[in-house]
Amino acid sequence: MKGGPGHRCDPEEIFELADGALGPEREREVRTHLGCCPGCLALYQSELDLNASLGALQFEEPRSVCRVVAMALPTRSVKVRLLWAGLAVVLLLVASLALSLDGTNPAVFAVDALVTFWSFVSGFADVVRALLAAVGPALLVALAVGALLDLIIATVYLSVSRRRAREA
Ligand SMILES: [Zn+2]
Repeated sequence: MKGGPGHRCDPEEIFELADGALGPEREREVRTHLGCCPGCLALYQSELDLNASLGALQFEEPRSVCRVVAMALPTRSVKVRLLWAGLAVVLLLVASLALSLDGTNPAVFAVDALVTFWSFVSGFADVVRALLAAVGPALLVALAVGALLDLIIATVYLSVSRRRAREA
């Protein structure tokens, strides 16, 4: 571990190494770091795989596209997953609340009681009830479709790039 504190994990350097864009001195340092850092080594190997996949897709500027996609893919999937998960929880709550307001779900009697309490407090129960009944299910459907589309896009992208890489 040559550089010690001077050399830490740097994804940008890993991408440059995979692209062959580092000078000999820095390349040796980064390769030394790869030897003792499993995380960076995994990143380096996945970047090599991605370069091969995207190279097979013949983008006009494979290297910059590689980097953008490599940086964006993990970030995106995590963020999107968290976003969808959060929205799904909220909308599931809204939808079950709407169902309970229709009296079709006896299992959420507690929610009913809570809503009754809200209506007592606010006097807006009718408005809230109408709003939830109208908007909740529609939003839930939109969410499900959106999440499904996202999953399909990711799956298609990955399978296509893998197949292209295998054929290349
Ligand atoms: Zn590292």
